[in-house]
Amino acid sequence: MTAPYDYDIIIIGGGPVGMALALALRNSGTSVLLLEARGLPEKTEDSRPLALSHGSRIILEYLGVWKALPDITPITTIHISNRGGFGRTVLTADNMGVPALGYVMNHHDVFRCMHEALQHSGADYLTGAQVTRLKTSARIGQIEFQHAELTKKATAKLLVVADGGRLTAQIEGVTQHVHDYQQWAVVARIKSEHAANMPSTASEKASMKRGAVARPSKTARSAGKEFQRLGGGVAYERFTPDGPVALLPSGEDFALVWTVSPSAAQEILALDDAAFLVRLHDHFGDRLGKFIKAGKRSGFPLALKYTTPITACRIALVGNAAQTLHPVAGQGFNLGLRDAWELAEEIIASPTETGTPAMLARYRHKRRVDSGAGRLFTDSLVKLFSNDYPVLGSVRSIGLSALDCLPQAKRFVARRMMFGARG
Ligand SMILES: Cc1cc2nc3c(=O)[nH]c(=O)nc-3n(C[C@H](O)[C@H](O)[C@H](O)COP(=O)(O)OP(=O)(O)OC[C@H]3O[C@@H](n4cnc5c(N)ncnc54)[C@H](O)[C@@H]3O)c2cc1C
Repeated sequence: MTAPYDYDIIIIGGGPVGMALALALRNSGTSVLLLEARGLPEKTEDSRPLALSHGSRIILEYLGVWKALPDITPITTIHISNRGGFGRTVLTADNMGVPALGYVMNHHDVFRCMHEALQHSGADYLTGAQVTRLKTSARIGQIEFQHAELTKKATAKLLVVADGGRLTAQIEGVTQHVHDYQQWAVVARIKSEHAANMPSTASEKASMKRGAVARPSKTARSAGKEFQRLGGGVAYERFTPDGPVALLPSGEDFALVWTVSPSAAQEILALDDAAFLVRLHDHFGDRLGKFIKAGKRSGFPLALKYTTPITACRIALVGNAAQTLHPVAGQGFNLGLRDAWELAEEIIASPTETGTPAMLARYRHKRRVDSGAGRLFTDSLVKLFSNDYPVLGSVRSIGLSALDCLPQAKRFVARRMMFGARG
């Protein structure tokens, strides 16, 4: 750290969005201090999958992180259906003329690769550094943080709050809005009978012909036909009255994000593997055959949280601190990355204006449509699809069928999933 700890920018929170901003600003000539409360390297295991858009891939490539990421599975098809209704729609990368509609990876891999990139970048990056106070004046932002059992202070022209929303109550002039969905997401890695049994290589196919490998069951074979017709890399999003359930392709397996009530989440997390797999199959249906193996399960409470405005005197909010969304549409980190990217662009375009009201107004303006639309899209999906009103059930079915018949509408939805509101 540079004494007396005075920087152009201090980023509070080294989650994936705070780290993305620090990476975007390296080599920009601005001095940056990034503070992360967790004492890394500690075990950063986080079982949640991340579905990232094509637009996010481009940003991660630019940040020099993409190539280091292991186990990326492209999504070539998104299959959306409505349990108990007739509607369904299929979005494909082919129709969009792109190699993939998105990419599935592990949250902890993204975190680890960014952490390593920062360590090699020579950035002022402190872990085990918890910010306890922040205050600002017209000319400067000041913070106090705990590090190595000492209380330290630092100042900057701009404080970027990337802490997931934990310090928002301390920021004057902003309001945090919270809506508890009364839902949890249960996540786990899942193997399905179909995906596990489908031969993928020529030699596996030959073994199956010779009978050296067990043939899949009849149910799995018919489910498998659809899988093969769609060409693999299929993400399934199934809406049910209790909430959406997503199975994202992850190598040979699926990454499950299953939305349930808080009490059901506790039950599901407590089940043994066999009972859990049966319950999931009962809920999701037979499209992928039986589920035959489950990895470690974790649960996340779900709420919509957003802050207005996303700037205050000498302060800008990014990522979950600006908006925390339901994972149904896989938008949260994608939006957060764009927050970081566009804030970095503002800082780099006119470094002398860093933290000034004019610069903060430009950042606010740039993010208004993208963030607002992402929030509205996600929140509407949750509300429209997580209930059992019969009238809405028909509307959902008709809507999905109509979408399936309208290529232009499909392209509209797919572009927004890939690039955000300005897609
Ligand atoms: C089940 C689930 C599935 C999801 N799936 C997807 C998906 O498919 N696609 C997608 O785009 N998004 C998805 N998301 C959302 C995504 O995980 C988040 O949007 C993203 O992780 C937000 O990153 P962040 O850096 O803004 O915040 P966080 O990850 O919350 O990081 C904040 C960091 O700040 C640190 N911190 C907190 N307080 C302080 C302090 N006082 N001082 C210093 N440091 C502090 C914390 O330790 C933490 O590391 C999903 C979320 C869930 C729950």
